[in-house]
Amino acid sequence: MGTKSVKVKTSAVFLDRDGTVIFDRNYLSSPKKVKLYSFSAQSINKLRAAGFKIIIVTNQSGISRGMFTEGDLIKVNRRLLSLLKAKGAKIDSVYYCPHSDFDDCYCRKPKIGLALNGARDFDIDLKKSYAVGDSIRDYLFGFNMGGKGILVLTGHGKKEQDAIIVSEKIKPFIVCKTLKQAVNFIIKDAKRYPR
Ligand SMILES: [Mg+2]
Ligand SMILES: [Zn+2]
Repeated sequence: MGTKSVKVKTSAVFLDRDGTVIFDRNYLSSPKKVKLYSFSAQSINKLRAAGFKIIIVTNQSGISRGMFTEGDLIKVNRRLLSLLKAKGAKIDSVYYCPHSDFDDCYCRKPKIGLALNGARDFDIDLKKSYAVGDSIRDYLFGFNMGGKGILVLTGHGKKEQDAIIVSEKIKPFIVCKTLKQAVNFIIKDAKRYPR
């Protein structure tokens, strides 16, 4: 009696959408064109079994550029969730940034607004969390939130990897072939930290 129970914060894996969980279709606006990678559902299930919150964070500047609407995006996201559900995989939330670089928002990756939303909604410890994606912005997002950023080589990953060498001082924590390898890494890495 009198002892306060300490609520332990959870950790999360922030997944990029296009080129990481689904095939990159270049400004995807049609639910019909949503196609999961063969390893996505299983990888997400593995993360969930390991106790992570799983949040999709996606830059969707096509909205700011007038290429599609927020309504289109929501339909695409819904389709993604239903494809995952059909394979028994569940995402905790999807956050998106509808802006472009010109909008100077707080949420376009590598800015960490979307991670802060996750921290607020799910009581996440960002320092013990991970971000996975196929672009430089994605692993920088992981770095900027104080966690670890992983680059995958699906989608634009290979091209982005070449660009790092030229332009970026900050490197990915690790480069993985696909989300599948990234998840294996995360699960091993996280075992070193009490959660
Ligand atoms: Mg991507
Ligand atoms: Zn934004």
